[in-house]
Amino acid sequence: MYDYVIIGAGFAGAVSANLLATQHNKKVLVIEKRAHVGGNCYDEVDENGIVVHRYGPHLFHTSSKEVWEYLSRFTEWTPYEHNVLAHIKGKNVPIPFNFNTIEALFAPLDATRFQQKLLHYYAPNTKVPILDLKKHFDDDLRMLADFIYENLFLHYTAKQWGLSPQEIDSTVTARVPIFIGRDNRYFNDTFQAIPKNGYTKLFEALLDHPNITVELQKDFLNEVCWRENRIGFRNDFTCKVLYTGAVDALFDYCFDALPYRTTEMVFETIDQAYFQEAATINYPNDHDYTRITEFKHIHPTLSPKTTILKEYPKEHRKEITVPYYPIFNDKNQAQYTQYMQKAQHFSNLTLIGRLAEYRYYDMDDIVLHALNTVGNV
Ligand SMILES: Cc1cc2nc3c(=O)[nH]c(=O)nc-3n(C[C@H](O)[C@H](O)[C@H](O)COP(=O)(O)OP(=O)(O)OC[C@H]3O[C@@H](n4cnc5c(N)ncnc54)[C@H](O)[C@@H]3O)c2cc1C
Repeated sequence: MYDYVIIGAGFAGAVSANLLATQHNKKVLVIEKRAHVGGNCYDEVDENGIVVHRYGPHLFHTSSKEVWEYLSRFTEWTPYEHNVLAHIKGKNVPIPFNFNTIEALFAPLDATRFQQKLLHYYAPNTKVPILDLKKHFDDDLRMLADFIYENLFLHYTAKQWGLSPQEIDSTVTARVPIFIGRDNRYFNDTFQAIPKNGYTKLFEALLDHPNITVELQKDFLNEVCWRENRIGFRNDFTCKVLYTGAVDALFDYCFDALPYRTTEMVFETIDQAYFQEAATINYPNDHDYTRITEFKHIHPTLSPKTTILKEYPKEHRKEITVPYYPIFNDKNQAQYTQYMQKAQHFSNLTLIGRLAEYRYYDMDDIVLHALNTVGNV
């Protein structure tokens, strides 16, 4: 009945389904185990009338004209540039660390000296990894790098990944940049916006085609079947399978569960119009949560109340918590390679997406990847 079965209605699955249906005239069945489309980008209006992102704040940004023009066929946009503050030494200061941050945290004479030295050695409006600054021959710049490393990076990373500061290798991980200038924006991409009617509506538009059928609350793994070098669904081995779920779950964890970090998302209603001065405030050194996001800054709403989200990083437990961030190291990559090689035995199976490929993709990356992949399946 179907040319393709696609597992997952996140960006990887929804863009692939749309392209197969519209450009290749294929009949597509999308199977999604959650009660909604959109994958982790899903948003909805909460009890305060405020649009919230259930799986963490999602800010769209890209420098790819191809991605921007493709998605613009399915949504209008509200321009939005994300600003993030970090709570350091009792103050909320802009990040990425830049000249404004220096002025907020250091005495005027010190701040001026740091700025002048940075401008002497580096081009304006560039990003310099603090790892480079840590190795600089100038004492002041090394001191500034150590300050940023200690106050912005070290404890945040330890909290995010569940590591002790000693376990964090500064040569590998201290890639956090300092910006040589005053640009407070979190992203520098050409296109930065939020879908005007939300992400979920964008997904509904992607999937709205007579060739596409979507079944929600169906777990593919309950109906998958195997025969020699074919994967099947509901005893049909003729269709092609495009799988965007977790690759270790697909093969019943035969090479063990792939390690992830998860985040406990705790939403709170606050009985006041606004809670904080920016959309997101990071807490590198205080509290068990890494950041607080207030959605009204992203989706302005006239409500006397406000909704905030606190993100608590946790160890992931397979099939219990949501796998959010793959943990990158050689051992885990080798484990993933075993799964990938196993998948290659099945001639009608394609793996695509953050869970199937065990890697972190931004939204625009996965859209571009789907645009490039679907031509070849
Ligand atoms: C906390 C957080 C914040 C982020 N913020 C940003 C941001 O600001 N900007 C940005 O560009 N990117 C952001 N991202 C990245 C973004 O979420 C991903 O790029 C995107 O979700 C990848 O889409 P996907 O389709 O690969 O995966 P997903 O969105 O996870 O979709 C996979 C889908 O497959 C379904 N599925 C899995 N297994 C099965 C099964 N057995 N049967 C049926 N269905 C199944 C799942 O339910 C899910 O809906 C963020 C990620 C995280 C974790």
